[in-house]
Amino acid sequence: MCGIVGYVGAQPAAPILVEGLTRLEHRGYDSAGVAVLGPSGLKVAKRAGRVRDLADGLPKRFGGKVGVGHTRWATHGAANDVNAHPHSDASRTVSIVHNGIIDNAAALRHRLTEDGVELVSDTDSEVVAHLVARSTADTLEGKVSEALAAIEGTYGLAVLHADFPDRIVAARNGSPLIIGVGDREMFVASDLAAIVRHTTTVAHLDDGEIASVTATGFTTYRQDLTSTAKSAVQLDVDPSSYDAGEHESFMRKEMHEQPAAAERALRGRLDERFGTAHLGGLNMDARETRAIRRVKILGCGSAYYVGQMGAGLVEELARIPADAEAASEFRYRNPVIEPDTLYVAVSQSGETIDTLLAVEEIRRKGGRVVGLVNVVGSAIARACDGGIYLHAGPEIAVASTKALTNMFLGFALLALQLGRVRDLSIADGRRLIAGLDRLPAQIEEVLAQEDTLAVLAKRLAEAESLFFVGRVRGFPVAREGAQKFKEISYRHAEAYQTSELKHGPLALICEQVPTVAIVPADELTDRNVGALHEIAARGGPLVVVTHEDVDLGDLTAHADLQRVDVPRNERELDPILLTIPLQLLAYHAALHLGHDIDKPRNLAKSVTVE
Ligand code: GLU
Repeated sequence: MCGIVGYVGAQPAAPILVEGLTRLEHRGYDSAGVAVLGPSGLKVAKRAGRVRDLADGLPKRFGGKVGVGHTRWATHGAANDVNAHPHSDASRTVSIVHNGIIDNAAALRHRLTEDGVELVSDTDSEVVAHLVARSTADTLEGKVSEALAAIEGTYGLAVLHADFPDRIVAARNGSPLIIGVGDREMFVASDLAAIVRHTTTVAHLDDGEIASVTATGFTTYRQDLTSTAKSAVQLDVDPSSYDAGEHESFMRKEMHEQPAAAERALRGRLDERFGTAHLGGLNMDARETRAIRRVKILGCGSAYYVGQMGAGLVEELARIPADAEAASEFRYRNPVIEPDTLYVAVSQSGETIDTLLAVEEIRRKGGRVVGLVNVVGSAIARACDGGIYLHAGPEIAVASTKALTNMFLGFALLALQLGRVRDLSIADGRRLIAGLDRLPAQIEEVLAQEDTLAVLAKRLAEAESLFFVGRVRGFPVAREGAQKFKEISYRHAEAYQTSELKHGPLALICEQVPTVAIVPADELTDRNVGALHEIAARGGPLVVVTHEDVDLGDLTAHADLQRVDVPRNERELDPILLTIPLQLLAYHAALHLGHDIDKPRNLAKSVTVE
């Protein structure tokens, strides 16, 4: 979950590492540190807080042309200076940065302590430094391989050793790591964002691989040090898409990129003539597609909620039973894996460990999984039998917006394709294609209401607690809205089915507890409006996200009610348009409260620890 960056070349390493860490901060930001190897040996600087605190306190003489850096998202031990990475052995010969969790850290700590090693931090990671330092192998690759043989768990690792000052040895198991190739300089990173300014030629390490990286090249090995000949590829990315540009935050930039991102997700995938979608990456022929009897969607957080929207689309369009489940729970209940179920794993980063482990469990039991993933070549994308890339472009803000919208579109395309080999008529297929074509412009229309939504958001931000309610298609929208609101505004926001309010939570409704209600123009509008009356009768303030042609009757006159109208699309596609204003509400509430929008407390992008 944390960020790792490493440099080896002809330039001073520290500034490159610090700049890389700044670009990685969205991945973990409770502490940061760097280690460099210079003529006078290994130097380490680390501290709790943000990367800029580290940069401000960096000693003047911190020279060295090889080094590693880390931003931490603590799993073991408090976020303090000592627990910050890099970790070193007592003689300061070895320094390591680690992303992930060492499961047998307690046993290893015990063993090391018995052998007289003094452990100075509370982290699981520190043991790795001592294991490497104590290895008697002759090469750094050998020492790292020996250390890895003793540890169980997940890691992205980068190791420096004073006796091998020309190299970084890196290893991966469950936490992303790439090698960047420059001109007589090389990089190691957990995320392309850290090095994209320097190079876009990279090699992805696979689980179980070790890499030895010097200024002039790299070699990859299996853990037993047999070679895995791997070459780097040139990625087609625009480095400027990793900058916030004129926007004050990545989240705002990414919200406003949604119309363009949505167009990219749809491009080349709609077949007007046959009223269907083309998803070549699924690797399924028509016969296999027809044989699917059930669809099971797995994701975490927002990806889980958009998965619920996706399940609705699949049921409506393809009439195949479909549901979504939190990937983080799925694997632990010994799920029944069925051969005629299509499993869909959803993850922006493609590195979400809970989702990846669910994919592995399904594949182990013979199930077929496809991925809905944004980051090309990521672990989930590679672990699946096929998939749909989201084409959202890099998403840096922790709170997902454009990737989430494109996940919805991915589901719409999948549902269309599944539907058209079943009962969905060509006319209905074309109706949906026309709807999808209209979406980018309609998203733009909702974004244009930002100023009005900002005013509503300020009011909502004043409440300690609020409800988000919706029914059927609107319920996952409410869940996603509440999630976004709590993530960045830190207000208690709870999602409920509107129909369930009177079975419990209505007891909490009062003037201090506002409700954001999702009321689309559909077969449930009247019932939804009925529930709004029940809330209004108890003095509960209301923000109603609805369609222009929905008549709220005398509610508007009597209740403390604000309405937000979104454009209507086809009813199946409405959920995503109803979601957009909720992003803006969350954003402006957090802005009003003065929070760091892109780095909400306790959270991090790409959750690569269990
Ligand atoms: N488990 C390690 C720690 O708590 C690494 C956490 C991370 O990935 O940042 O220090």
